[in-house]
Amino acid sequence: MSETLLIGAHTSTAGGVHKALLRGKEIDATTVQLFTSNQKQWNGRQFSAEELDLWQRALSETGITSIMSHDSYLINLGSNKNDLLAKSRKAFREEVERCLQLGLTYMNFHPGAATGDSEENCLDRIVQSLLILEPLLENTSLRLLIEATAGQGTTIGHRFEHLGYLISRVKEKIPIGVCIDTCHIFAAGYDIRDEGGWKKVIEEFDYAVGWDHLYAFHMNDSQHGLGSRKDRHANLGKGEIGMKCFEVMMTHPKLRSIPKYLETPNGELMWKDEIATLRSFTCIPTSN
Ligand SMILES: [Zn+2]
Ligand SMILES: [Zn+2]
Repeated sequence: MSETLLIGAHTSTAGGVHKALLRGKEIDATTVQLFTSNQKQWNGRQFSAEELDLWQRALSETGITSIMSHDSYLINLGSNKNDLLAKSRKAFREEVERCLQLGLTYMNFHPGAATGDSEENCLDRIVQSLLILEPLLENTSLRLLIEATAGQGTTIGHRFEHLGYLISRVKEKIPIGVCIDTCHIFAAGYDIRDEGGWKKVIEEFDYAVGWDHLYAFHMNDSQHGLGSRKDRHANLGKGEIGMKCFEVMMTHPKLRSIPKYLETPNGELMWKDEIATLRSFTCIPTSN
């Protein structure tokens, strides 16, 4: 039996949310990531009955599964400013509600930034922000994924210990997990350029978080070097990480079957090739 590996990209919803699925199909993706609303605006989008209908039809037409949403860039669940924290929590709840309407599997989010406060206080506010959602998430199949960050500025989540802290405090209450962005952890100082590097990073993640809390990867090469703490994505094999990393990810028993989402530059033209390249490492034909 051939195994359907989940590989896709962050596709555009221009023209309607269902278009993200159709665009995924065009690049031979088996999964996609999308924004359920404009990621740079506070005012969330509302889906009409017609949009939801088109979404359902595109779902069965494309066979795309394990769909992940990425939350708005404006949200800071760890803010020490009361007005921004309240606004963030409201927008985050609306993000979750839209994911539930669409029946998504994962909602990826940036944990937050300390902006002048201590990391500990910021982490504790993020925990509180997440626990508020317990009633909303009860009996749903949506899982929230904390994205590992590059550590730009005062952002939290660039050490596996931050992720472990958050997970351990909310995992009994809400469905939670981690999404590793390869560009981010490399920029944060985790060397994943070859199999030996991955072996060490897997051990560190397992120790600090627990391996079974990892649910997804963002697949990006990095324009900047190891430990640069700069978040600039590059096309696979065209950055400081190099293609070997991605080849290992498609063959390593602990990495190959975890869903993977490209966020590389230059869009759909590149993604089709990058998906084909990733699949070629596994010697498994596309599942059409
Ligand atoms: Zn992100
Ligand atoms: Zn990034």
